[in-house]
Amino acid sequence: MRYRAYARALLPALLLLTGAAPSAPAFDLVPLGVNGGVEEPTSAYHITARGARSGVMCDAGTLAASIDQARRRGRYPRAASRQEVMTSISAYLITHAHLDHVAGLVLASPDDTKKDIMALAPVNQAIADHYFNWSAWPNMGDRGASPRLALYHYRDLEPGGPPTAIAGTGMSVTAYRLSHAGSPSTAFLLQNGSEALLCLGDTGPDAVEGSTRLNELWRAVAPLARQGRLRGIVIEASYPDPVPDARLYGHLTPSWLGKELQTLRGMVGDDTRMKALPILVTHIKPSRTSRSSRVDVSRQLKDLGFFNFIVLRQGRAYAL
Ligand SMILES: [Zn+2]
Repeated sequence: MRYRAYARALLPALLLLTGAAPSAPAFDLVPLGVNGGVEEPTSAYHITARGARSGVMCDAGTLAASIDQARRRGRYPRAASRQEVMTSISAYLITHAHLDHVAGLVLASPDDTKKDIMALAPVNQAIADHYFNWSAWPNMGDRGASPRLALYHYRDLEPGGPPTAIAGTGMSVTAYRLSHAGSPSTAFLLQNGSEALLCLGDTGPDAVEGSTRLNELWRAVAPLARQGRLRGIVIEASYPDPVPDARLYGHLTPSWLGKELQTLRGMVGDDTRMKALPILVTHIKPSRTSRSSRVDVSRQLKDLGFFNFIVLRQGRAYAL
């Protein structure tokens, strides 16, 4: 009997060592917008380290109205008001300055509280030049046209640089460059202690972009995936297949997403880990034709097999 008690006591530690134990969630994700343009609400992902009071937005294509909608659905149990949810956002991580990724941030800014906008230098520059410039909108930032209202503090992130702490969130972030039809886009690797979550902005496949950005990103995160510390990858699949390469405009389809993930799979070298890794698919562009592209993309991902694809739904809560 003593042996059995001993084994019972030892089992959780053994499971932890072998990685077989189901680990407690490390991140909470609420997608506020999952569309890739044409129809609102567009890309915005509210990410919080489990147990923390403040989190971040990875992109902010939509904000105020979508927060209200998520509140009505009970996604913010501890927050009574929109203002409280807005206040609980410590920083905006902006992948690129296209409108479908920043419109919510600009529109909600008059009601916002002081925050950091964390992005690669060219992205911050584009926000300062094209939105907060007293022409498109009052200058809510601390750069560019005077007077500077300095509600937002721009923080330039060094690509691939050491993790930068995000005050009050328990998380740090590392930015990696992506190629989006030749213009700069970003993947943010968020870390909560030993655990990580990857949030990508718009990106084309390396083969079409003539780039190695995705390859470099996969190389950077493969060790985390191998160790079971990568809790998910938020990534786009903008159009259903087939799309001629010349008409991808810096985006992925299910087949291209599958090819890119096969590259990551090769680097991870552990199919059990790779199969379990949540691939959180988003930024689907509503179709011009009558058939729903969301249905088509979902079916095509399913047909790819192997990977753990989860097509994100707006206003749902995901524990990762
Ligand atoms: Zn976009």
